[in-house]
Amino acid sequence: MKKLALHWQIIIGMLLGLFFGFGMTYVDGGKGFVIDWIKPFGDIFVNLLKLIAIPLIIASLIKGISDLKDISKFKAIGGRTIVTYIVTTVVAISIGLLIVNTLQPGNGISPDTIEKLTDTYAGNEKIAERMDQASQQQSSGPLQFLVDMVPSNFFAAASENRNMLQVIFFTIIFGISLLLIGEKNAKPLKGFFDSLNDVVLKMVDLIMLTAPVAVFALLANVVVSSDDPDILLALLKYALNVVLGLLLMVVFYSIIVSTMVKKNPFWFLKKLSPAQLLAFSTSSSAATLPVTMERVEEHIGVDKEVSSFVLPVGATINMDGTSLYQAVAAVFIMQVLWPEGLVFSNQLTIILTALLASIGSAAVPGAGMVMLVIVLDAVGFPSDKLAIGLALIFAVDRPLDMLRTTINVTGDATVSMLVAKSVGKLGKPNVKEWDDHYDEVK
Ligand code: ASP
Repeated sequence: MKKLALHWQIIIGMLLGLFFGFGMTYVDGGKGFVIDWIKPFGDIFVNLLKLIAIPLIIASLIKGISDLKDISKFKAIGGRTIVTYIVTTVVAISIGLLIVNTLQPGNGISPDTIEKLTDTYAGNEKIAERMDQASQQQSSGPLQFLVDMVPSNFFAAASENRNMLQVIFFTIIFGISLLLIGEKNAKPLKGFFDSLNDVVLKMVDLIMLTAPVAVFALLANVVVSSDDPDILLALLKYALNVVLGLLLMVVFYSIIVSTMVKKNPFWFLKKLSPAQLLAFSTSSSAATLPVTMERVEEHIGVDKEVSSFVLPVGATINMDGTSLYQAVAAVFIMQVLWPEGLVFSNQLTIILTALLASIGSAAVPGAGMVMLVIVLDAVGFPSDKLAIGLALIFAVDRPLDMLRTTINVTGDATVSMLVAKSVGKLGKPNVKEWDDHYDEVK
């Protein structure tokens, strides 16, 4: 009998997790049971993915660079990647602004709802935590992000997943040096990193075998931790604005894939789907990165020289879904609490700051909201209303985080294909049918 394809197994795991979580909210002590006995399996899975992210980036980037015949190609890849990331992010923010200004979700909110949301969430410790993180970020100088990119200790950088750019920085210099010492001298190390790369990719396959169970645990936990349906409903219009924007981004990526990369967008989305489903379940593009890399390299056919640079950099700095969300959320909050601030110049400020903010957002759950504080601050939003503003959107933040993370990952994968195509590095996938590949590890 043919085994069910992995993405179907993951989808079934997610649905069962949703139903199970929902059922447990009606059982006495059900929530505690899910948190104590089910959630840990999701946490283990996320830890496993994070565990292999750094070794995978190192092995794959070194293999990619040391395979380069010509170093100038690397410059072309770097330049195109950064430019394309900026363009896709600006498109995302513009789509968000267009939708939120046209549909005006903030105008439908009743004073009662505002009061209820404020009472429930304004004192929430998570909101306070995010505001705190934002002010720490703001207190650093304008060039701090450049200084932060250069590690003073490689092991310290590699030991913290937040420092992905530092690891990339070190690895690129290492890879280029390996290339420069000549083939003969580089041979032993190159052989080592080549096989390390194969080993880590195999580890991704093994970890993915547990994905269906893990997503069950992750989603059951999301459901039992979510707020009461009344509150969610009150924010439906705002949430739908974000969702509509994110869907339009999928259309935008599909147009890029079919017109510029000349591939079938449905094929692309299907090949990428396990990574998208994990992005949705974990709300973290950093945790999803190993799977994104594996899908893009092995199943879509992007050469490692491109993907090993474009994807880890993208997971860190390219967040189209997050920036779109920041634009919609900022304007929504202004519509409700500070309509006089809705002037054209502020919309331009939002484009600029949401672009910078999404670059600065960490690829972890909830990071987008930290940067939203910075966007609001940049347009001069009254700071005494800030906690209320965040309280307005807090209840639906987790589901929207799940969706925007999915778009973040899809955007990175699209750009990696586009850059690969433009430098002649889009080849045939190593694995034709991903089910075959999956069976191979079983
Ligand atoms: N969770 C998102 C990510 O990891 C970031 C965010 O928007 O909160 O991509």
